[in-house]
Amino acid sequence: MNNLYLKSFIRCKRKAWLDYRGNKSYEIWSPHQSIEIVNRYKNFHKLCEGDLYTGKKACQKGTSGVIGLKVKSKLIKNINAEIHPQLLKKVSGKSKWGKYKYIPVVYKLGYRTTKEHLFDLAFCSILLEPFQESKIEKGIVLSNYSNHINIEKIDLNHRLRKKVSNLYLDLNEYLKGSIPEITKERKKCMICSWQKFCDAEAKSNGYLTEIDGIGSKTALLLQQNGISNIKELAAAKKNVLGDKLFQFKEEKFEKASKFINQSKSYLSGKPIKLYEKENLFNLLSKKDSGFFIFDIESNPDEKHDFLYGFLKINNLFENIEDDFYDPILNLNKNGKKSQQEIFQKLTSKEEWPVLHYGETEKIVILNLARQINLDSKQIEILKSRFVDLHLMIRRSWILPIKNYSLKTVAGWMGFKWKQKNVSGSKALYWWIQYKITSNDIFLKKIIMYNRDDCLATLHIAKWLIKNNKKIN
Ligand code: SF4
Repeated sequence: MNNLYLKSFIRCKRKAWLDYRGNKSYEIWSPHQSIEIVNRYKNFHKLCEGDLYTGKKACQKGTSGVIGLKVKSKLIKNINAEIHPQLLKKVSGKSKWGKYKYIPVVYKLGYRTTKEHLFDLAFCSILLEPFQESKIEKGIVLSNYSNHINIEKIDLNHRLRKKVSNLYLDLNEYLKGSIPEITKERKKCMICSWQKFCDAEAKSNGYLTEIDGIGSKTALLLQQNGISNIKELAAAKKNVLGDKLFQFKEEKFEKASKFINQSKSYLSGKPIKLYEKENLFNLLSKKDSGFFIFDIESNPDEKHDFLYGFLKINNLFENIEDDFYDPILNLNKNGKKSQQEIFQKLTSKEEWPVLHYGETEKIVILNLARQINLDSKQIEILKSRFVDLHLMIRRSWILPIKNYSLKTVAGWMGFKWKQKNVSGSKALYWWIQYKITSNDIFLKKIIMYNRDDCLATLHIAKWLIKNNKKIN
């Protein structure tokens, strides 16, 4: 048993169990995890100024950083324990190797330092101290925002060590038992390698958290009120349910109606039309004028949008030719050339609307417009050209799906991406690979993915228009 299971256990008890005892053929590759590993080594390399080697020999030699070390020992109650520290950093002190010692370092993707980081450091220090014959007072959480390395020193005190030892005992007990339940906080599942496996079980059991908008708190509230699965939710009465959903205040009846309809649609597999006309009218009135479809790929950690993809559509139902799509690459952050190209593109058809999915695209373009000093009137005109299909679909339809992401919605409408199992995280992974290798194959994959995202957005626009006609 090692610190990696402990890390999983902190995130989700079931994940630790599956990592240890699950059938690996159900596990899927997680781009998020791969991005973390790639970034981790890049930053460890920087922190140690390249003096980074593996294993015990590196410790004996006293290199600045040590990776790939495994240390085994017995913990309280004679339980076997093993650590695979992400990085050991040399600091001044005294150890069995000489006038230096090592302290553990963990890499953090994102802004928050969590229990996962603190416990990992504390657990590693417990086994590392006897191994190097030296005390460890501090550990490091390393992060990198906008190419700037941040070092956060963590006090590895007695309280933290005690907590992590107790948690390790808990982990050992859990792993002996049967598979734990799916976590109530399903947001965690988004980046988990067992997501598909758990989704299938949640679906077959009709868990309330399968319904869009129902998180762990709402699910608990519903359960306390006698509604424990999707079937029961679908059969609920709007007024009775609304009274129970007091946390949503004046929106409680609207929420009740939404949850009931979403459950009905989920169970029947049939979409439900909502009578919200304003937005759809906006799209319908613009469909014959020609328009752009716009989609961005970005690296949120570095606040870098590396690709702006434009699809040019003269008529909604014409065949799409290759030259309709224009990928504007922004290889270096804040590249002026890409900014110019974007605004040339937008002003080439000033009256054309810009269709997009989700709010990011509009926010990014308006920020760029401010950077190039467009005046407030020009910005207002630009703003009015954006048509958010995500907002539109949510306001006008309830679909028999778990969430309203581009992949889920367009996938349900029958759109197929050319590359298998793609996602924004995978595109980011390719981007990181491109930055390391300069191999154009990764750029090609990103471009193909972005083009498909634009086509998926177009597919949704067509579906909205076609089905609006059918029903009205
Ligand atoms: S998919 Fe969710 S419930 Fe399943 S192991 Fe991962 S985090 Fe836990």
